[in-house]
Amino acid sequence: MNPDKYTEERVLSLRSWTPQLLSFRLSRPAGYQFTAGQFARLGLVKTDALAPDDTGQRIVWRAYSIASAPEEGALEFCSVLLPEGEFTTELARLQPGDTVLVERASYGFLTTAGFAPGKDLWMIATGTGLAPFVSIIQERQNWQDFENLVIVHSVREAPELAYRDTILKLAKEPPFGASGAKLRYVPIVTRDTLEGVLHERIPVLAQDGRLEAAAGLALDLARSRILLCGNPAMVKDMRALLGAAGYATSRRLKPGTLAVENYW
Ligand SMILES: Cc1cc2nc3c(=O)[nH]c(=O)nc-3n(C[C@H](O)[C@H](O)[C@H](O)COP(=O)(O)OP(=O)(O)OC[C@H]3O[C@@H](n4cnc5c(N)ncnc54)[C@H](O)[C@@H]3O)c2cc1C
Repeated sequence: MNPDKYTEERVLSLRSWTPQLLSFRLSRPAGYQFTAGQFARLGLVKTDALAPDDTGQRIVWRAYSIASAPEEGALEFCSVLLPEGEFTTELARLQPGDTVLVERASYGFLTTAGFAPGKDLWMIATGTGLAPFVSIIQERQNWQDFENLVIVHSVREAPELAYRDTILKLAKEPPFGASGAKLRYVPIVTRDTLEGVLHERIPVLAQDGRLEAAAGLALDLARSRILLCGNPAMVKDMRALLGAAGYATSRRLKPGTLAVENYW
């Protein structure tokens, strides 16, 4: 890639949620702009035999949703660490002060920008698909535009409920002097027992009404605007379910009620 298209940034800090789940903060490239919900493209230099020339080095690029708020001075990300992952095996080795490349552009349509006006913003994630929603709930505009912000986060095991404390704190003490807006949090753990938490796949819970009951809010096409992010199987099943209920992604000149992002 043309070096004009990216900058070299520093790892500021790291936080391990589990041995396979890591959040990290990078210095923010000068002039870097994004809307809450968008993703960055990050690059790591790898030294191995697959390099195209005799330097022995190549850059591996991957997409990462930005978890920090658009006003923050640093960029935060949350990544799965896969034992054989080409990018994440390198990521697992990072220490504060190390270099990560960041493309200058930000990307993606998993934002509230294309939505028809609504009252309830449902943010439905599996695993690290939560990351863009951590940014969205830290943006002032969303607390002003919606009456309810609903986070549904499904993971396999309880320790993977990253950002749980941040979400619970924002739910208890709404930021920006938000009066009236309410943050609702529905954690789901599919392979672990945690009291008071649902244990079934999201599409099943959406179909049988348990998701709405847990959120204390009905899904209603006139009010609900929905963001789906993470595992493609969840996105596909929810998309089919919501599509049948009339939800649709934005089209040119036609604001939508649904936006989705698949991570693989
Ligand atoms: C728009 C977009 C945004 C993304 N944002 C994030 C993010 O915020 N955090 C993040 O961890 N990943 C995110 N991803 C996935 C990320 O780009 C990498 O694919 C992932 O981190 C694994 O990279 P890897 O090279 O180690 O594994 P690869 O060698 O690329 O292996 C990919 C395989 O790992 C599995 N996999 C990939 N991503 C995940 C994941 N997040 N959770 C569980 N299994 C996965 C899939 O089975 C996939 O086939 C995003 C992807 C896209 C397209």
